Amino acid sequence: MSTLDNCIFCKIARGLLPSRKVYEDDEIFAFDDIHPLAPVHFLIIPKMHIASMAHVGPEHGALLGRMLLLAPQLALAQGCRPYPEGGFRILTNTGAEGGQEVAHLHVHVMGGPRPWLKG
Ligand code: 5GP
Ligand code: ZN
Repeated sequence: MSTLDNCIFCKIARGLLPSRKVYEDDEIFAFDDIHPLAPVHFLIIPKMHIASMAHVGPEHGALLGRMLLLAPQLALAQGCRPYPEGGFRILTNTGAEGGQEVAHLHVHVMGGPRPWLKG
């Protein structure tokens, strides 16, 4: 599995930095965002280092599909209410102008009762 020694999300996925784990399998790790913008706010990441959505190719299709398929299931498990009254937001910032701060691909999943801190 590719990792970067100076990447905080690679370290979180390997358990070298602490996090509140939401989910883990052999390819994927999910954990609470340290600065939640909504009552439920967690991140789904691939364990392998992929810098952003600008770095994915056809070889990542199954992995990305699995990450997205986990989002609704984990959102409910973390306390989001069911669709349509509840629901959740999925967001992936990409690059500087896309608002990306951590250069390891991550899917934000946000939900829970309004108002949220942002959006
Ligand atoms: P971005 O702006 O790159 O889309 O989002 C990065 C997210 O990672 C931010 O929401 C930020 O709060 C979160 N984050 C940054 N460093 C850490 C950390 O060390 N632990 C956790 N749990 N979240 C982090
Ligand atoms: Zn990484």
